[in-house]
Amino acid sequence: MNLDFQSSNQTEGLREDSPITDSMILDIIMKNSQDTIYFKDRNSKFIANSHAHLAQVGCATTEEMIGKSDFDYFPEVFAMQAFLDEKKIMETGIPIISKEEKLILQTGETVWFSASKYPIYDEKGSIIGTWGTSRDITELKRTQEELRQLNLKLESNNQELQKLSDLDGLSELYNQRKFYEILEQTIEVCQKKKAMGHGCTFSVIMMDIDKFKEINDTYGHPAGDTAIRYIAGIIRNNKRVDDFCFRCGGDEFAMILMDTGIESAKFVAERLRRMIEESPLFYHHQQIPLTISAGVKEFHLDDTTYKILEQVDQTLYASKKNGRNQVNY
Ligand code: GH3
Ligand code: MG
Repeated sequence: MNLDFQSSNQTEGLREDSPITDSMILDIIMKNSQDTIYFKDRNSKFIANSHAHLAQVGCATTEEMIGKSDFDYFPEVFAMQAFLDEKKIMETGIPIISKEEKLILQTGETVWFSASKYPIYDEKGSIIGTWGTSRDITELKRTQEELRQLNLKLESNNQELQKLSDLDGLSELYNQRKFYEILEQTIEVCQKKKAMGHGCTFSVIMMDIDKFKEINDTYGHPAGDTAIRYIAGIIRNNKRVDDFCFRCGGDEFAMILMDTGIESAKFVAERLRRMIEESPLFYHHQQIPLTISAGVKEFHLDDTTYKILEQVDQTLYASKKNGRNQVNY
């Protein structure tokens, strides 16, 4: 192995008459490369080091490092990993390319390197050592980490926004858009399950506050808003985990009751109706009586979103027409 930087043997590919000799090239690289470059013998002891490497470990001359190893300059864990990597390269001949190495300094500061290591062969083809380069990528890693944190924040903000865009601002129930979306999905799932021979059903309840215009007119719009929130709270507090509840705009609410046939759905609607009737809203020392009318519909195999909405609307309309404060199906 010839590491004599003064050698004038011409590197393959260089013109015979080139003013730049291979020793000049080696000299330029070893003196000027920002990446550290080193050559090691079979025992991972330094044979030659670039100036950047000398500067990194605080040595003034090449001679100071010759015969030393990473164990003389770096923490044991770091030096041992490098030693084991080089041992493997000498056993297998397979280089290690762009491996990220983490170095924790005595100050507690973390420094990251991107390191590549290669075998050195003698003229007979036997591996007689290793050489490698190492680049400080601490700044890059810091930027990557900042980017990762930003992405996490962005993701959580997006989830928050998504959640907000599904919710009705006043009642904090799901909004009408979400109602249509979940209804469509539920119909699709049920149709697929039924096609596979499994049982599946669900029911929809539509509810509308009775004479709500009068409540606004008598007690004022803020009282009306409070009534909407109040009824939304009663509906939310009485739903099962798998059920969904919505404000479909104005004074209209809906529920999707999963795995629920018409009888149970009627029972749920009737219980809600009674609770609301029996729980007047207290607003600014006034008692505001509230009632709702409701319509109930169970899913059938040939139902579409439109059909199920139309039918449940008709049952709600029947409750209004028949005198309000009642449930029809
Ligand atoms: P019905 O028994 O037939 O349902 O009579 P109603 O007076 O409740 O009639 P309707 O359901 O058509 O009226 C809904 C009213 O709800 C009309 C509108 O002024 C009021 N409203 C809609 N959105 C809001 C809201 O966000 N806040 C308040 N306070 N009132 C609302
Ligand atoms: Mg109404």
